Amino acid sequence: MVNNINKKPLLAGVIGHPISHSKSPLLQNYWLSRYEINGFYIPIDVRPQDLIKSIEALVLLGFRGVNVTIPHKVAILSIADTATDRASMIGAANTLYFNKEGKVTADNTDGYGFKQNIKSYDPLWEARTGPAVVFGAGGAAKAVIHALLSEGVPSVRILNRTRIKAEMIAEHLGNRVEVIDWYAIKEALNGATTIINTTSLGMVGQPSFKPDLSNASPEARVIDLVYNPVDTEFLKGARQQGLKTIDGLGMLLYQAEPGFTNWFNVTPSVDEKLRAIFLND
Ligand code: NAP
Repeated sequence: MVNNINKKPLLAGVIGHPISHSKSPLLQNYWLSRYEINGFYIPIDVRPQDLIKSIEALVLLGFRGVNVTIPHKVAILSIADTATDRASMIGAANTLYFNKEGKVTADNTDGYGFKQNIKSYDPLWEARTGPAVVFGAGGAAKAVIHALLSEGVPSVRILNRTRIKAEMIAEHLGNRVEVIDWYAIKEALNGATTIINTTSLGMVGQPSFKPDLSNASPEARVIDLVYNPVDTEFLKGARQQGLKTIDGLGMLLYQAEPGFTNWFNVTPSVDEKLRAIFLND
């Protein structure tokens, strides 16, 4: 038995509403068990109207922090005492750290997960080698674009069904971001070395997404954020063009690392066993 409630276990969890769908407990409890940490990670259903009181209660009860999921990712920023630069820039948080004085820091680790996932497949990948093409302009796109910019990408071309949302991101994230028409895929791909689907197209229950990538550079890396299914039509189509592909499962796993490290004082690793647990879940 790893957990010992008499020895003041370390506490963390995930808050959302609803919360039963969250995969975070599966992931964090795998690491707690693997590293034999005396700690607990629990899912907590928090209604929007109870968010402030719930955070206060978790701090009071000695939690080290929590993950934050829908619908609290944006609202939590105005409740936290501070936010990391990346959470402020993205305008949403998915991880909270509580310090000994009870101060709450909001972080967004999606961009970190995105970068680590690519580097785990392809340690030589560098964003600075060429323009990136991002399909989609939702919450995940902001994190991905922020990560690409911080890695030195020369430019990011956003294509989104609702153009105004792409324009708002471009305005917010600076002059290396440009908006291209959703249907101008061929033009957008010209010279691109990193190509990412951040739309929900291709997810179970959604229409599939198989754009013509024939204009992409042969060196391009093609990444899908969708992880259910893991091997999407988008990735299959890219492989048919001879392009290297990276699935979205790794991002889901890597984005959890900073929280676990902060709360439980161990830097966990993403391994094949963990991937297999998720693939078979
Ligand atoms: P979101 O904020 O709701 O954004 C959804 C995006 O998909 C928008 O750009 C939307 O375009 C586009 N879209 C939806 N239906 C479409 C359609 N029929 N045709 C064209 N575009 C369509 O969602 P999100 O949080 O960014 O998440 C997006 C995807 O990324 C989801 O599949 C999610 O599971 C995945 N994700 C994965 C990870 C990971 O760790 N791997 C992390 C975060 C998110 P409009 O603006 O035109 O509506």
